[in-house]
Amino acid sequence: MPISGSEIVKMLPGRKPCKDCGFPTCFAFAMKLATGGATVDKCPYLSPEVKAKLEDLLAPAIKLVTIGTGDKKVEVGNEEVIYRHEKTYVHPPGIAILISDKESEAKVEEKMRKVKELQFPWVGLTLKADLIALQFESGDKNKFLNLVKKVSQSSDLGLILISQDLDILFAARDLCADKKPLLYPITKENIDQAIPRIKEKPTPVGVRAESIEELIPLTIKLKEAKVDDAVLDPGSKNILDAIRDQTFIRRAALKQGFRPLGYPTIAFPCFMAKDEIKEILTASVFVIKFAAIIVLSDFDQDSLLPLLVQRLNIYTDPRFPMAVEEKYYEIGTPDEYAPVLVTSNWALTYFIVSSAIEATKIPSYLCVKDAEGLGVLTGWAAGKFTGDQVGAMIKKSGIESRVKNKKVVIPGRVARIKGELEEALPGWEVVVGPREASGIGAFLPEYVKTLRK
Ligand code: SF4
Repeated sequence: MPISGSEIVKMLPGRKPCKDCGFPTCFAFAMKLATGGATVDKCPYLSPEVKAKLEDLLAPAIKLVTIGTGDKKVEVGNEEVIYRHEKTYVHPPGIAILISDKESEAKVEEKMRKVKELQFPWVGLTLKADLIALQFESGDKNKFLNLVKKVSQSSDLGLILISQDLDILFAARDLCADKKPLLYPITKENIDQAIPRIKEKPTPVGVRAESIEELIPLTIKLKEAKVDDAVLDPGSKNILDAIRDQTFIRRAALKQGFRPLGYPTIAFPCFMAKDEIKEILTASVFVIKFAAIIVLSDFDQDSLLPLLVQRLNIYTDPRFPMAVEEKYYEIGTPDEYAPVLVTSNWALTYFIVSSAIEATKIPSYLCVKDAEGLGVLTGWAAGKFTGDQVGAMIKKSGIESRVKNKKVVIPGRVARIKGELEEALPGWEVVVGPREASGIGAFLPEYVKTLRK
C-alpha cells in the first residue's frame, strides 16, 4: 500500500532544512518521494537501515520484472490498479509460444517462422508475440541444449526455459544468460538448490506452487536471498481457479500491500486447455484477469490476432483516445502529382481514411493533423481542427516540397474551414472532399485526373 508523505517525513533526518536533496525542506522531499518524483538516494543523511526501509516501502506494489534484453525485452508487473477504469493497466502481458524438445525439427522451424512472420500492423503499432518458451521433455539433455542454442541464436526474443531437472535448467541458462531468460519452475522441492545457482548469473525466475498459500514462503525465501525478479504461478488447475487465484494475488498486492505476493504472474493455457479453441479462450481470460505472461502451445493468424487486439484494447489507457502521429503519410508510392488529403489523428479516423484511399489504389499523401485524438468534426467543434491549425500543420509537415499541384482535399464534414484554410495557405487551393470516408472510392479516381492537367 502506498506510504504517505507525512509518514515518510517521520523517517527523514529533519534536523535541518539543508536542501542538499534539492528540495527546500524534508517535508517537501517526503511529498515528492511519496508520489515517485524523487529517489531516496538524494538525501545523503539517511542511515543504511532507514534508506533500505524507505526503498522497500516505496517499491511498486507489484514488482517490475524484465525478461530478455534490448528492444525485444518484455517488462511485466508494476501495475497500480485492479480495475482498468480506475486508471490504466501499464504493461501488457507477454505472449509466448511453447516449443518442446520432443517436437520434430520441422515443427520447431514452423513455430519459429510463425513467431517471425505473424506481425500485424494495427493502428500505427505492430502486434506480435513476444516470447519463446522452450520446454525440456525429451529426457535427452543434449537435444534440449541444442534447441536452446539454436533458438537463442536465431531469435532475439526473450526466452522462458522450462525444465523440472535443475541441472538441465541451469545448463540451458548458461547458454543464454546474457539474454536474461526466465527460469521455470522454482518450487518448494528445488528452491534451496536453485538459489545459489540463480545468484551466479541473476535472471528472472518463475515460482510455481500448488496453491497461493504455498507460494508465499517461496517468495519470502527468494527475497531473503536477494533474488527478487520473480513471476508467480499459483498452479491453477482450471479456469475458475485461475480467475480466483489471479484476482487474489492482484488484490493482496495492491489492496493489502502484501509483499510476498507483489509479483507479476505467469499462466499456461497450453497446459490447462485440451483443444485449440479452449486454449485461446483461456488465454483471453488471462489477458483480462491479470496474467503478465501467457504461454500458448501454438498459434496461427486466426487465433493470435484476436488475442493481440484484445490485449491492445485492455492495455490502452482509457483516459486518452488512441491517436497516430501528426505528419504526412505516404499511401502507396505517391509522386509529385499525387493527391493530398487531410484528416485528424484519431486512430480510427486515420485507419478508415487511409484504408479507403488504399482501396482506390491511387498513391496519395495523407496529412494528419493532431486533434488530440478526436475525430474530424469533434476536433473542429473542440477548436482543435480549425483552418488555421490545419494550414500550420501542412506548412510544417514539408508536404509543399513534395507536390507540384498545391491542392489539398479536406473532409466534407468540415467544409466550413475552407476559407480559413485558404487564407492560412496562400497559393493552395482547398477542395472539399466527401463527407464520409466511404465516399473516397468514388471521389478520388475522378479528382486525380484533374491533377495532371
Ligand atoms: Fe532533509 Fe535530507 Fe533533504 Fe536535507 S537532504 S533537507 S536532511 S531530506
